[in-house]
Amino acid sequence: MNSSELPDSGQETLRVSALHALAYCPRLFYLEEVEELYTQDEAVFAGRRLHVEIEKEEGDVYESLMLESEALGLRGKVDALRTRSGQTIPYEHKQGRCRRDEQNQPQAWDSDRLQILAYACLIEAALGIMVTEGRIRYHADNVLVKVPLDEQGRQQVRQAIEQARQLRRSTERPPVTSNERLCVRCSLAPVCLPEETRFAQAEATQPMRLFPEDDDREIVHVLEPGACVGRSGDQIKISRKDEPTITLPARQVGQIVLHSYSQISTQALYFCAEQQIGVHFISGGGRYLGSLNTRQGSIQRRIRQYRALSDSEMSLKLARQLVLCRGQSQRRFLMRGQRNLNQAGEPLQQTIDQMERLLRLVPQAESLERLLGLEGNLASLYFAALPCLIGDNVPAELRFIRRSRRPPQDRFNALLGFGYALLLKDVVNSILVVGLEPSLGFYHQPRTQAPPLGLDLMEIFRVPLVDMTVMGAVNRGQWDIWEDFEVRGHRVWLSDSGRRKFINLYERRKEETWKHPILKYSLTYRRLIELEVRLLEKEWMGEGNLFGHLVIR
Ligand code: SF4
Repeated sequence: MNSSELPDSGQETLRVSALHALAYCPRLFYLEEVEELYTQDEAVFAGRRLHVEIEKEEGDVYESLMLESEALGLRGKVDALRTRSGQTIPYEHKQGRCRRDEQNQPQAWDSDRLQILAYACLIEAALGIMVTEGRIRYHADNVLVKVPLDEQGRQQVRQAIEQARQLRRSTERPPVTSNERLCVRCSLAPVCLPEETRFAQAEATQPMRLFPEDDDREIVHVLEPGACVGRSGDQIKISRKDEPTITLPARQVGQIVLHSYSQISTQALYFCAEQQIGVHFISGGGRYLGSLNTRQGSIQRRIRQYRALSDSEMSLKLARQLVLCRGQSQRRFLMRGQRNLNQAGEPLQQTIDQMERLLRLVPQAESLERLLGLEGNLASLYFAALPCLIGDNVPAELRFIRRSRRPPQDRFNALLGFGYALLLKDVVNSILVVGLEPSLGFYHQPRTQAPPLGLDLMEIFRVPLVDMTVMGAVNRGQWDIWEDFEVRGHRVWLSDSGRRKFINLYERRKEETWKHPILKYSLTYRRLIELEVRLLEKEWMGEGNLFGHLVIR
């Protein structure tokens, strides 16, 4: 056993449909069977297997027969078993068309062929009878293909089982398939990102986006103390005082965010865990408190993450890219503001130049301490220059003087603080969706309850999602300085109306699309956060150099 192998748990039999995935693409097998990754979109799985109402014919023995053989190491459900001329024959039904050979003769696809052979071997092993062939009906072109089971076929099944067992022991994800056409039809393309891997390995010039531009599931914020989230059948139910109860189908909900002392029932928590709906908690003071973390699925991803981030060189490389990315976005944001300024432009230009000089030093930083120093200097310059971007008409109460946190000491900082809490929540949500460990980062140290990897990744999105949103809304006069804030001495928080307004602005901002500067396709910010986490994971799988390039123009 080498260091990239886990001990073999040994006992569990393989599903025959997993061998189908293996023959389709070993990486698909690994993602499904080992990393237990699935997407909401089950359409392609449906494409692989069709469950039809089979008309009973004379000689039918069983329909949908569940079989298992520990000796062979397989289990599975046969669509139908029929007897023809004294022979028992398994049938498999497929939605699509068959393959055609050079003579235009109908053939089974390789993955379908292996699957029906595996069913035939399973029947032999489980029922102790001899099977000489299996049959596949392709419904799109109404073709029946006969697949004989001979010694070569049995050998092929045994080899596939052995390959699957080896992959189950491995912590390494297999490479992407060289047959790009398979990826176009693969439901796991959004998590596998094969085009991006080929691009990173210089095998593709322009990656094609194989997943939707947006995730249109709703993010439900529950702000009212005493409001309760429950479950009713397949629906999420939200009850607010003096308001009609709202129900939403679970498949339409991506996250539930509980602010302040709003509540959620145990049944709803279980349901959210089952349905992979993110549940997050934000305090009444606007601080991110934590998330329900039930996605403990694959240990392999976490082992790879732990190995990579224990390597100080890898952590330093990623941290440099992160500091560069955030610093460049901060500088560009000041440059945008500078274009709109008249007299105040000169000091701002000096800051922009100073930041450029510091940014040139980032790729050479030889330690995390040096990087922290550079990042601190960049942040000081940026926040010192930020007041220059505030318009003349903005009231004094909304002006920004200096950064203050825990607690914020003015309205502008209260807005930034609440925005960063929402952003951290979104980043942690994506980290959990991807299946990484939020508390294991590469740059931030675990000083507060905030998970370090979440703090690392949110650096990329602070400027575009929070700073720009806050500055835009302040300059457009969208805040009521009394209604939208609660001021107690030197402590300032957003009031109920302020939080509602902010959430609205922030969620709308996340719906805007942005063209990735390297990959050159457009995605909403919501999707980009998840993409960035996946690109981070690729950094330690030999598919890297795409992480941390999201710099505003
Ligand atoms: S997207 Fe392509 S490489 Fe990735 S699992 Fe699917 S078929 Fe394999």
